[in-house]
Amino acid sequence: MQQTPYKAPDKNTALQSNDNNAAKKLSKPTPMMAQFLEIKAVNPDYLLFYRMGDFYELFFEDAEIAAQALGIVLTKRGKHLDNDIPMCGVPIHAAQNYLQKLIALGHKVAICEQLEDPSEAKKRGAKSVVKRDVVRLVSAGTITEDELLPTNSNNFLCSLAIIQHSEIDIALAWADISTGETFVSAIKTEQLLDELSRIDPSELIISQRALDNIKQLRIFPQNIAQKTTIISAENFDSELNLKRLNDSFNNFDATSLTRAKRSALGALIAYISNAQKNSNISLRKPTSENLSSIMAIDSATKNSLEILLTNNGKSKGSLRHTIDLCVTPAGSRLLARRLAAPLTNIEKINARLDLVEYLCSDNIFRDELLSQIRQIPDISRPLTRLDLRRGGAKDLANLGLAIQNANILEKIIISSNNANNTPLPKDLIIIAKSLKALPLTLGDELEKAIISEAPHLVKDGGFIKQGYSEELDIQRELAHQSRTIIANLQKQLSDEVDIKNLKIKHNRSLGYYIEVAANQGKKLTQTPFSEKFIHRQTMKNAMRFTTIELSELEGKISRAQNAALNIELEIFTSLCQEILKHSEILRQASDNLAKLDLSVALAKLAIENNYCRPKIDNSLNFKIIGGRHPVVEKTLAKQGENFIVNDCDLSEPISANNKQNGGQLWLLTGPNMGGKSTFLRQNALIAILAQIGSFVPASSAHIGIIDRLFSRVGASDDIASGRSTFMVEMVETATILNCATNKSLVILDEIGRGTSTFDGLAIAWATAEALINTNRSRSLFATHFHELTALAKSLPRTSNHTMKVREYRGEVIFLHEVGVGTALSSYGVQVAKLAGVPSQVINRAREVLNLLEQQPNSNANAIFDELPLFSQQINNDPAPINEIDEMLDNLRPDELTPLKAIEILYEIKKKYDANK
Ligand code: ATP
Repeated sequence: MQQTPYKAPDKNTALQSNDNNAAKKLSKPTPMMAQFLEIKAVNPDYLLFYRMGDFYELFFEDAEIAAQALGIVLTKRGKHLDNDIPMCGVPIHAAQNYLQKLIALGHKVAICEQLEDPSEAKKRGAKSVVKRDVVRLVSAGTITEDELLPTNSNNFLCSLAIIQHSEIDIALAWADISTGETFVSAIKTEQLLDELSRIDPSELIISQRALDNIKQLRIFPQNIAQKTTIISAENFDSELNLKRLNDSFNNFDATSLTRAKRSALGALIAYISNAQKNSNISLRKPTSENLSSIMAIDSATKNSLEILLTNNGKSKGSLRHTIDLCVTPAGSRLLARRLAAPLTNIEKINARLDLVEYLCSDNIFRDELLSQIRQIPDISRPLTRLDLRRGGAKDLANLGLAIQNANILEKIIISSNNANNTPLPKDLIIIAKSLKALPLTLGDELEKAIISEAPHLVKDGGFIKQGYSEELDIQRELAHQSRTIIANLQKQLSDEVDIKNLKIKHNRSLGYYIEVAANQGKKLTQTPFSEKFIHRQTMKNAMRFTTIELSELEGKISRAQNAALNIELEIFTSLCQEILKHSEILRQASDNLAKLDLSVALAKLAIENNYCRPKIDNSLNFKIIGGRHPVVEKTLAKQGENFIVNDCDLSEPISANNKQNGGQLWLLTGPNMGGKSTFLRQNALIAILAQIGSFVPASSAHIGIIDRLFSRVGASDDIASGRSTFMVEMVETATILNCATNKSLVILDEIGRGTSTFDGLAIAWATAEALINTNRSRSLFATHFHELTALAKSLPRTSNHTMKVREYRGEVIFLHEVGVGTALSSYGVQVAKLAGVPSQVINRAREVLNLLEQQPNSNANAIFDELPLFSQQINNDPAPINEIDEMLDNLRPDELTPLKAIEILYEIKKKYDANK
């Protein structure tokens, strides 16, 4: 694919940079070590898997690193200039597992293979070394093996280019090599962090100069640092890349790309091509992403809403995990991509919603589709493996099955069109068309050719079905017959020499041989048998012989076996070529299957959970009736509890001061644990779901397109980048106030809590004013600053809402219901009591709170002076339980007899008098 050569990193070679006596190593190495060091010098950043027979061996520092990382034994292999050579090795058959571990730990591996048979090397002289070279460079972004790839998410390699003229142009290009999907986009400096967070690459390639640049601009995210690979700046040359790109993609005009995009995309191609050692990898034509067509979700928002992962980095508990009912990995991968990039184009969103709605309307049709989609194996990853000559017979069998079953799926779709009078939605027609375009005859051919339980490796053959090739069947039969003749020969020889235990066996070094016990072997070395039996080997317990007849038979068998294997390999190659001719059609079908799987999954989700179709338009509405939090609702349902639904209306009011139905800014107060965060988040999640084209957890939803979603919920230190909790909070607030528009949705859960009360309140106050007057965004603002609710009187389009509670005998009961008004209290002390804070501390807190509440804020300091330092000695003894309360708590009046009731009444009175 690549014509313009890849340039290795701007680094000294490993030998120059290694301080471990590298020069000495070079001065007099053995021929094999010289070869190792030469290859290692070209790949200094990679652990070199150096093939020696049935092992990959690692030497020197590589061996030390790998032995420690893999927990394998570090040995020595002779000496090199008085120094031991550290060595460790992994067997070929288990190499995949070790490779996986090393890549997961962030290492890169160069696979160095033997390029000739050792016998060839021997012909050049006894001391000649077998030719070897690196056939592949493996890093996190360039893996293609199923075992190494994440199943339900993409594995993106990303390239970052900066072109500096009067302004700075930044471009990102990213590709999932395993599926061929390729993207490119131009971004602004301030978008870099969010875009990298959205793409979430497993490896980022960049030039040293660009890296220095973005570090200077302080826009390089810390979490990407350990995933970064520095490559030579020449790979980013936008002029060189013009040719590279035009050569790489069919019907592609790279001149239409900006310099920065060309630079990023070209470097990406160069890196991939070098990693695959110029194997023919066909990436798909790059899709140019336009960021304005995507709802912008910055990384803080993405994390706080736990869209793809929870705050603990787990998938379980995230939005994605909760709603993912896809039955194919490609469907799940698509869901993750859509959640990271909801759309802003109303037409496209509605087209997706039309399809989901259609699928919701017919349960039988949906179930039929679902069970058929399940029968279709993944297409894109096996296709890439075949493209890279790394595929196996199993990949062929799966592709055949995928084509055949996709064809049946197309018929199911079309039959629905005939059965229902409703016309098929546009997206479903596109899906059906792309499935119809699949080469069904090739699918049938593959099914005819490949056995269903095909072996993993192609090189040993045995994967072509009996009856597919006459020539192959003849050779197999020949080999088979010869084996039967061998079995007969064994019987005949055993009778002839009168040795019952005479056996004909086979091993790799001797081939077929006759074996008898050691004490009987002598007989065969003497007349009359010595003429016929040719001695081959004497073992401790056995002697081995051959005969001319056996050698001839062996020749026949191995010729037939070789011929059969060659025929199988030829068939394999020609089927692969045939498949690769249809690459683009197959990949398009694969994309469409993922879309259908996801749409069916979303329809199932909607039906099972009672979601509704949102109304999406260009207005400034945000009206959710009966909204629910998709994740909390599920969690509560598992505990047998109900989720309390809540409405939210941030739509632009008809008159600016009409606060009856809400207004654009809701100030939400309420007790701790009252459900404020849940309410805030559920509305943000509903917006995301609506704009990915999903139904939403509500009884109705009307949403005017949201261009950016901001969610500032809680904060933690970002010690790595030297920012305190409060600083993180303020940076996020600044981003919102600088970027939110009247089309944005802003969720603010607590602002100004990390500083003094007055500072915090002042910042929260000014932020709310700016949101309503300047940004004019639809906003939900939860706060424990009850003073803030005064704003609703003076600000237009602003109203107060509160999480309702009921107090019962000093305890607080959360109703989780949002109502108009202001909370009377935060009930923090009650919540602290529920959490198990010792009762002495609770009592003391109540005292302080009472005093504080009696004073105006400005006098708070005076109150502290008046408070005695300790109201009582705090100890850790459990608090005495109020016996009367306990008795009343356990009382069930309906179950009492009148006599028992009187008895209890007396007892209560007695206890009361005693405590007076
Ligand atoms: P804090 O101010 O302390 O952060 P909060 O008001 O933000 O608290 P949440 O964290 O949203 O409260 O909710 C606390 C718990 O209440 C949730 O974990 C959930 O179990 C329950 N909850 C919240 N909302 C609802 C609801 N609508 N229906 C039922 N249970 C709910």
